[in-house]
Amino acid sequence: MTDISSLLAAVSARHNHPCPRQVLGVRMGRAGAAALGLEIPRQDKRLLVIAETDGCFLDGLEVACGIAAGRRTLRTEDYGKVAATFVDVQTGDAVRLAPRPDVRARAQDYAPGESRHYFAQLTGYQIMPDEELFSLTPVVLNTPVTDLVSRPGVRTNCVACGEEIINEREVMMDGLAYCRSCAGQGYYQMPASAVPIFAGVEQEGQTLRVSLFHSAQHSPV
Ligand SMILES: [Zn+2]
Ligand SMILES: [Zn+2]
Repeated sequence: MTDISSLLAAVSARHNHPCPRQVLGVRMGRAGAAALGLEIPRQDKRLLVIAETDGCFLDGLEVACGIAAGRRTLRTEDYGKVAATFVDVQTGDAVRLAPRPDVRARAQDYAPGESRHYFAQLTGYQIMPDEELFSLTPVVLNTPVTDLVSRPGVRTNCVACGEEIINEREVMMDGLAYCRSCAGQGYYQMPASAVPIFAGVEQEGQTLRVSLFHSAQHSPV
């Protein structure tokens, strides 16, 4: 396992300053992987990490564990928490780690003489034992890991908006496949007055709710 100082140097190279949340990411990455008995950094996709916020914390997790959103080994469920669940994709085992509520005060004990909280955390978080930094609990995912990972190559089209859905993220209603957005689970809405800057391709037998292309000037896209 790579030593913590070279991991932290690699993290702060991304960020141009070391910060306490990056350190927590590195420490949590090591503790989470160790709890599952997995070697890190990983070259394969066996370790899946579900982080509960975005930001600097993820830089630490990525560097320590060798995970990345682009490799589909890092997901974010944004609960606004510096916490994460580590999943062994092969066995389905999962553990969740979160900083102990008193972690900032404890860090102070590991940085005697440092009156600036930020620097006390920066130092303390690097050397505190795992059990003083984090709570660590076995958990069971509400969505089985096989569903989260899904299978390459599966795709369908939403019956309402026509857009393609991959990784089996469709929502079935009355036997029809909808994207989460059209199923009412979207993170955005389209105001009734919205006019697309570019419209989607009009499909046969399907009427788009809004289309830039009127019959007179139907242009191929
Ligand atoms: Zn930062
Ligand atoms: Zn849709």
